[in-house]
Amino acid sequence: MTTPTVCAPLRVEARALRRGLADAARATEPTAATDAPGAEPADPDRVRVVRTGYGPVRAAAAAVRIARAGPSALAVGGVGGGLTSDLRVGDVVVASEVTYGGATVRCPAAPLLAGELRRAGLRVSVGPVATVDRLVRGAQPAGLAASGAIAVDMESAPLLAAAAGRPVVVVRAISDTPDRPLASPDIVTGGLAALRSLRQAAPALARWAAALGPRRVLLASPRSFCAGVERAIEIVELALEQRGAPVYVRKQIVHNATVVADLERRGAIFVDELTEVPDGASVVFSAHGVAPEVRQEAARRGLDAVDATCPLVAKVHAEARRYAADGYLVALIGHAGHEEVEGTLGEAPDAMALVERPADVARLTPADPARVAYLMQTTLAADEATAVVDAITERFPLATGPGTGDICYATTNRQSAVRAIAARCDVVLVAGSANSSNSLRLVETARRAGAAAYLVDRAEDIQLGWLAGASAVGITAGASAPPAIVEEIVAAIGGLGEIETEEVAVATESVQFGLPKEVRRQPVGSGEG
Ligand code: SF4
Repeated sequence: MTTPTVCAPLRVEARALRRGLADAARATEPTAATDAPGAEPADPDRVRVVRTGYGPVRAAAAAVRIARAGPSALAVGGVGGGLTSDLRVGDVVVASEVTYGGATVRCPAAPLLAGELRRAGLRVSVGPVATVDRLVRGAQPAGLAASGAIAVDMESAPLLAAAAGRPVVVVRAISDTPDRPLASPDIVTGGLAALRSLRQAAPALARWAAALGPRRVLLASPRSFCAGVERAIEIVELALEQRGAPVYVRKQIVHNATVVADLERRGAIFVDELTEVPDGASVVFSAHGVAPEVRQEAARRGLDAVDATCPLVAKVHAEARRYAADGYLVALIGHAGHEEVEGTLGEAPDAMALVERPADVARLTPADPARVAYLMQTTLAADEATAVVDAITERFPLATGPGTGDICYATTNRQSAVRAIAARCDVVLVAGSANSSNSLRLVETARRAGAAAYLVDRAEDIQLGWLAGASAVGITAGASAPPAIVEEIVAAIGGLGEIETEEVAVATESVQFGLPKEVRRQPVGSGEG
């Protein structure tokens, strides 16, 4: 097999791509560009650009020539027509699939390339691209858009045939849109804008080429949603179903951007404080828990409040109240500013002190050194918590606490699982949002185990450079990250070459929590009458 090939139908498109690749070479990455199909590039590890000709007939002929050379992967880069009103000239469309005459070719690596292009400063959309036999005019673009396509071209599908099942990507820079159709006087400026974007997109194709290859994917298990997160999401869903939209949610119900965006679409309104909730409205408290004063404020204002606090967080709250009532100074081990920490500290503000690191223990001033207790945030890394517990018990030998028992089962299991894969991986990807404590701890745990590790909200956040040369990739997800994101990441990596997946399980989970009475469904047949 030969070098990954980038097919550019027109001479101007090939030139824009070569210039962009040369830009990248000047910056850091040497690359080669040739014009004739079959010619060898100067650097066989990089991409070559091949001009393939205008229209589906020339594209099909070029595909036959290219297939003979047996490229290890194939990209199509050129200008295209935008079909949806949100597209502007100069935007870039990355094909999730290409349709032509009833057949569809999927491009699973599209999110990875789209992410690179966005980070390069381009406006990017991902969606189906339709290949057609001749220029579309009149009502035809609207018809193609109705079929789900967001862009149209005349070559991609025939060219992709040359890949013969190997990795493919398609990038089309938009030269015309429904508002600025091909026949309009703006077509020249639209074409120039598209070519500029194509040049800017080219370095990302070099990074795509460098990341190609077969690899092993190790899936840590358990990963993704825990029982507390599933319960919290179900509570908001049930509140929406039973009360109708809008339902207010104080703070993010769980720390995950995808989950929050999905619930927002369904009618949830996320607020930071109760003052933003109108009188008489329904409000859900997040899984991280709230201080008692928030509950009291909701009751005072007659709000219809539903508490989605995870029962394992509520357990720590109860321990805080008990120790405070018994006259203890309670050291809460956790991270300042985290909602769970704020909620727990609120249980007994005068009897509690936050301890983030061992050095903070020196600042504790208990009235009675024999009455010091410690508790901890449920999502800490066990080893960081142990270091603080050791410092507390060293200074206060009679200090009492749960060991690392406040760290919940889901946190512990996910950390054990990521530790089990990290030593076998070149890179570990952790699905989760930047404000998710347990996801961040997974990144730290994987790094401590020797792997490069990165937090990603979605597949688009994965930088292709992380995957270049990585023959074993580990994947896990924080307790607040949906399983679908892991599937999306696996599919995207699979778009770079064959993958062999292995599930590495360290525990099975069967924990389930009951729902609060405010949203519990009545058993069938229990109604009055
Ligand atoms: S991570 Fe643990 S404490 Fe947090 S919601 Fe999940 S089960 Fe509850």
